[in-house]
Amino acid sequence: MGSGVRLLVLGKQGAGKGTQAVRIAGHYGVPHISTGDMFRAAVAAGTPFGVKANEYMKRGELVPDDVVIGVVAERLAKDDAVNDGFVLDGFPRTKVQAEELQRLLGPGGLDAAVDIDVPTDTVIDRISGRRVCKTCGATYHVSAPPKVDSVCDKDGGEVVQREDDTPEAVRKRLELYEKDTRPLLDLYEELGLLVTVDGVGDPDEVFNRVIQSLPR
Ligand SMILES: [Zn+2]
Repeated sequence: MGSGVRLLVLGKQGAGKGTQAVRIAGHYGVPHISTGDMFRAAVAAGTPFGVKANEYMKRGELVPDDVVIGVVAERLAKDDAVNDGFVLDGFPRTKVQAEELQRLLGPGGLDAAVDIDVPTDTVIDRISGRRVCKTCGATYHVSAPPKVDSVCDKDGGEVVQREDDTPEAVRKRLELYEKDTRPLLDLYEELGLLVTVDGVGDPDEVFNRVIQSLPR
């Protein structure tokens, strides 16, 4: 392992985790490794675990933990991650995955697990207020709607609320997240790696809090 930072970023859907992960990676000059991108790249490159993962995904099945960790291990073995470090985004999702990651990295292999903490009601408000253009996917919010009601500024497409963005659907997803993630946060707490950052406020403020919270 090299001398750069090795972090992972956690947070509920709507907490701004992805945005912060990208910025943190840019700040430290390390690769931002999101689960989605990592899987797409592994499948496209036909890596051994990418091929395995693709078999499950093609059948619409959940990729099992050992294959997921295999894809992660392949990615973290690349030169940029070995030499510079990384910011993991979207992995691990469960305690089992977190334990596997600890085994993979070894003691001292992770500098911190950053939890972007936003209260559930705030997140529900953010997501359930979201409106999306059916044509181009542009997103709006009830607090920042298109100029003409329900009509996309960019292409005139219909702007709607997605079915899975209703408050009930969001609450259900957040409950699942909480159930899976709580044990993971407890684990990082025990390991002394958990850094909880208040995720309420504009992205610049939150980013400054993250950087100030991280061990030097
Ligand atoms: Zn549009």
